[in-house]
Amino acid sequence: IMLALRTRLTPLYARGFATAAETKKPAADKAYKVVVIGGGPGGLSVSSTVSKLLGQSQVAVIEPSKVHYYQPLWTYVGGGLKSFSESERPMGELISPQADWIQNKVTKVNAEENTVTLADGKRIGYDYLVVAAGIQVNWDNIKGLKNALGKNGVTSNYSADSVQKTWQFIQEFKGGNALFTFPATPPKCPGAPTKITFLAEEAFRNLGVREKTNVIYNHAGAKIFGVDHYGKVLQRLADERGIQTNYFHELIEIKADDKEAIFRNNQTKDVKTFNYDMIHVAPPCGPPAFIKESNIGDAAGWVDVNKETTRHNKYSNIFALGDCSSLPTSKTAAAITAESGVLKHNLIADLEGKTVEPAKYDGYTSCPLIVGRKQLILAEFSGYTGTPMETFPVDQRQISSTAQFLNKEIIPEIYWRELLAGNWTGPSKYREAMAPFRGKYD
Ligand code: FAD
Repeated sequence: IMLALRTRLTPLYARGFATAAETKKPAADKAYKVVVIGGGPGGLSVSSTVSKLLGQSQVAVIEPSKVHYYQPLWTYVGGGLKSFSESERPMGELISPQADWIQNKVTKVNAEENTVTLADGKRIGYDYLVVAAGIQVNWDNIKGLKNALGKNGVTSNYSADSVQKTWQFIQEFKGGNALFTFPATPPKCPGAPTKITFLAEEAFRNLGVREKTNVIYNHAGAKIFGVDHYGKVLQRLADERGIQTNYFHELIEIKADDKEAIFRNNQTKDVKTFNYDMIHVAPPCGPPAFIKESNIGDAAGWVDVNKETTRHNKYSNIFALGDCSSLPTSKTAAAITAESGVLKHNLIADLEGKTVEPAKYDGYTSCPLIVGRKQLILAEFSGYTGTPMETFPVDQRQISSTAQFLNKEIIPEIYWRELLAGNWTGPSKYREAMAPFRGKYD
């Protein structure tokens, strides 16, 4: 089948796009049929499929990092349930052998001339561009945080450098104030800050220090989880477990020498100081700066794509998926599974010169809400409507050890073997097959 597809596609990519074997031009003059920015799950899920389809050196993946991280595992790493090494693999082993890896950083997309500029000034041309550069973590937006991170009880699961400190600080905790935060800007995996709060609270019980500990969750938003179907269960659990939740509390400064965290109440604008003995920070996040500078972003700076087709609203040969896109769903690897299926359908139709009904993304995303070492609530919903989109014919709001096993042991395998290889586009087929056995959502 692949051979047949390649044969069919040959006339397309032969038009001015010679293979690497035929050309020995310097990288600055290189052009590809498809250029993919980013080697995260978004970029790899697309580049793996499309490079197999187009053949050798027709697709370039521009990615500066030597290492690929499976970030969803970091909650388990911070909670002492997985080792950090299980979350990392060499990038070179994951990029499809048919694609060229340009180990560099894009500084600008020149959409009018179909090129991207790299950090070393070289330019790479494209027929089609897929932007999958992820989200930017803005550590500097909280005064004092960057210098404090990883030391004296200050940690975050959002960084490869500090995630292992989370479990260390939890284990070393002797009682006092354990603070957890949620930022004012939507972070990647909005459930992650809540999950580590629950895991730490349980660990304090197991370590015998819970009685002398205040577990305080200072959240910049209005509620614990955006989708009430699951959020109500989470809030009840937090209350039952004595987790103190304070809303509209935005972390603005860490005074590491005094072990003080300063919060601003986003409603009253009052500023309040909390003493901490340990603090887990979910940092503010935003779009990568080069998107805005390239004029391919929306007003907020995310790559401005159609929310159904993933195609750019101005430049029809540009697509985007994942955390850097404007797709208004919660930013997760789970969302990328479905987004990538849609994007590939629409991009491949273009590459084949076919006019077909475009595939449409429905906002599917999932947040595996870990609430204990053997406890998980498998939230699956449309980020567009808030409607549950559950795979299994059970009420997934129930705490489940099976769902925890699925998320901790099975889904990582699906991620490494199938999603990154371009073979997994989410559980929609299973959801449809199970539909007759599922009750109505209330
Ligand atoms: P990324 O994975 O961030 O990849 C982007 C890539 O682009 C990076 O490799 C980067 O080096 C590269 N890049 C950046 N800028 C440039 C540039 N200028 N030029 C070239 N390359 C560039 N998701 C879930 O589904 N379930 C979970 O349980 C879950 N838990 C999480 C827990 C934590 C603690 C964290 C941090 C994340 C979690 N996520 C979870 C979110 C998930 O990891 C992200 O949504 C996902 O990785 C986004 O993929 P992406 O490809 O869009 O971006």
